[in-house]
Amino acid sequence: MPDIIHLLPDSIANQIAAGEVIQRPASVVKELVENSIDAGASHVQVLIKDAGRTLIQVIDDGKGMSPTDARMAFERHATSKIKEASDLFALTTMGFRGEALPSIAAIAQVEVKSRREEDELGSLLVVSSSQLEKQEPVSCARGTSILVKNIFFNVPARRKFLKSNETERRNIFIEIERIALVHPEIEFTFIDNDVVSLHLSRTGLKQRITQLEGKSSNKQLVEIEEETTLVKIHGYVSRPEYAKKGRASQFFFVNNRFIRHPYFHRAVATAFEQLIAPNEKPSYFIFFQVDPESIDVNIHPTKTEVKFEDEQVIWQILMVTVKEALGRFNAVPSIDFDTEDAPKIPIFDSSHQVDMPHVDVDPTFNPFRSPYSGASKPPAPAFDWEQLYKGFEGDKDTSLFNVPGSVKDVPETDYFPEHYQYKQKYILTSVKSGLMVIDQHKAHIRILFDKYLTQVKDKKGVSQRMLFPEILELSASEAATLPSINDDLEALGFELSNLGNNSFAIQGIPSEIENSNSAQLVRSMINSSMAAENCVKDEIQESIALSLAKLTAIPYGRTLTSEEMLLMVSQLFASPTPSYTPDGQKVIALFSDEEIEKKMQK
Ligand code: ADP
Ligand code: MG
Repeated sequence: MPDIIHLLPDSIANQIAAGEVIQRPASVVKELVENSIDAGASHVQVLIKDAGRTLIQVIDDGKGMSPTDARMAFERHATSKIKEASDLFALTTMGFRGEALPSIAAIAQVEVKSRREEDELGSLLVVSSSQLEKQEPVSCARGTSILVKNIFFNVPARRKFLKSNETERRNIFIEIERIALVHPEIEFTFIDNDVVSLHLSRTGLKQRITQLEGKSSNKQLVEIEEETTLVKIHGYVSRPEYAKKGRASQFFFVNNRFIRHPYFHRAVATAFEQLIAPNEKPSYFIFFQVDPESIDVNIHPTKTEVKFEDEQVIWQILMVTVKEALGRFNAVPSIDFDTEDAPKIPIFDSSHQVDMPHVDVDPTFNPFRSPYSGASKPPAPAFDWEQLYKGFEGDKDTSLFNVPGSVKDVPETDYFPEHYQYKQKYILTSVKSGLMVIDQHKAHIRILFDKYLTQVKDKKGVSQRMLFPEILELSASEAATLPSINDDLEALGFELSNLGNNSFAIQGIPSEIENSNSAQLVRSMINSSMAAENCVKDEIQESIALSLAKLTAIPYGRTLTSEEMLLMVSQLFASPTPSYTPDGQKVIALFSDEEIEKKMQK
């Protein structure tokens, strides 16, 4: 029999890699603009047609590329930005993986023109489906222009997944906005279907925010600034009186990269507590500078979640910094000194006996303690509810309240009112006919099981590459079982490579899972599949999904925010069988109004 293993052609390997880096036109815009910034551009122009479906072009006046570099740029892992692993911890550029250009060229038709200052002629390159179709000298402006036509023309399944033009255009705008906020010193022009829809001249941060948010925002902003050994914080928050009921602009950046951070969001919200109504939101634009080694290096190109080493301390610093700034700039409502309607203060009469004024002092008073939270300590880092949210991410507009699926064995809830967490174990919520108690850990197992099982069956899991793969040493029997479930593990997003001697390197894990215990996760899935009684594929897949769900579900003892609880309840009720875990444990208990009434009468 002939040998059957062969290397994938670059075009296919690139297309696979592209799935990770390029999800939509906005990802192309992000990658190209970041490259322009890394190239030292002072003006970046972004042109799109049909929300980026037919054309995306990014033109910069940066340092350009030599003809050889322009060609090399399309090779996988070709980068000018790092040379060795240690460079990763001192990154000053936005890109470093050398994957963007080859990924883009794998799924679109790309035309590059680039010229360095010192060259008389530049180079023109045409690459389509990873094939170099043309390279020749061309006379062009200094800098680089990259034109990307017909994104996903050769991957119809991906093209089908693009959303409405409105949504794709909004996503592009969001990427430009995030980059523009970090680089007010760079001029940006955004031309949408031949119309200049945004022009940002070079300026400082406050003005850049104003350019993006509208002129009136200028007087609404309060500067925040703090420098400690752990973190430098700088940015702006909106004054409380300008808090918004609807969408507010809320941005965190760490070392100049946009991040989401629900936990730090709560620090800002806490600083604003009592200054704004509960249904209002402050805007904020907050930049953290930290030692790159103190954060989980963002190795996933599209990942916006970042873990800090000293989260609780930074939480406190942030909360106090915002609170102080609001006070310092007199952002809290001030006393009006208009005397017209002021009460008359009687003139002192020395013939009258005067009592010593009595002052009550509360020695335990802490200005940073909210009467609601009752604690000056930051809450324990919250479970990453963004991850929870991922189940709904098919369409960002999905309302949390729009719960599909019906629930037969629990009363129907057409709304989810306030939730309350009891003993960091149960979520209590009132429903039409009484009080519902939900076990947080089991509920999350049910939610994750449903999600993982769908991923296994539909092969939908998205993988996140590990920069430093974890090594998994298996027993011989475990290693022998692995091939039979490897496709299921891959469907979830795990990528293993065989090192021989029953050792495997975990090269990739599902994007929604933190990478801390990947070896343990894989081992437990192998073991549970070994335990599945008969070797029916469905059962094996269920046992894999269940063991992964059990290990990744939020534990007891974790404090949940009201958003997290809301999300959890709404996701739970999207399940066709919310009342029990897949292995038959009770998730929900219901106490009817009558039972409660009865108890109260005795
Ligand atoms: P990365 O940015 O991670 O290095 P890319 O695939 O995005 O990988 O780009 C590969 C290389 O191509 C970059 O390292 C850079 O040297 C070069 N390059 C890409 N875009 C530009 C640009 N606009 N101007 C100058 N050089 C560029
Ligand atoms: Mg790049």
